[in-house]
Amino acid sequence: MQKKEKILIVGAGLCGTLLAIRLAQRGYQIHLVEKRPDMRKETISAGRSINLALSNRGLQALRLAGLESQIQKECIPMNGRMIHDTAGELRFSKYSGRVNEYINFKD
Ligand SMILES: Cc1cc2nc3c(=O)[nH]c(=O)nc-3n(C[C@H](O)[C@H](O)[C@H](O)COP(=O)(O)OP(=O)(O)OC[C@H]3O[C@@H](n4cnc5c(N)ncnc54)[C@H](O)[C@@H]3O)c2cc1C
Repeated sequence: MQKKEKILIVGAGLCGTLLAIRLAQRGYQIHLVEKRPDMRKETISAGRSINLALSNRGLQALRLAGLESQIQKECIPMNGRMIHDTAGELRFSKYSGRVNEYINFKD
């Protein structure tokens, strides 16, 4: 049921967008403002990354927002990082010591 209270959220980063969705799910009228242009519509400025490593906390937040399965379909497992040293040697550093555990990578 829609509530009469209106809530202004400043900043459409990870927290602002999640809060907007969760409060809207509770019926509040949300106005979300962001100082940067919409990255889905504009060319983003050089050096800014839009890749996201998504692990349990992020998945839990998406679950609360009802978006977990939708986003997980687009994720790929990220098992660790490859370290390239100055001699050109490669060393793989796993994110978890447990077998079959990984972080999700969302482009
Ligand atoms: C290089 C880098 C890589 C990262 N990689 C990951 C990762 O892979 N996975 C992960 O989980 N976390 C990652 N993080 C951490 C993650 O980005 C932060 O934890 C998260 O963005 C914090 O969310 P937030 O909403 O508090 O802040 P932000 O995401 O920074 O959002 C704040 C928003 O408010 C806007 N804003 C600020 N002032 C105003 C204003 N006056 N009016 C309007 N809008 C305003 C800003 O433009 C911004 O969009 C990374 C961080 C960095 C720096």
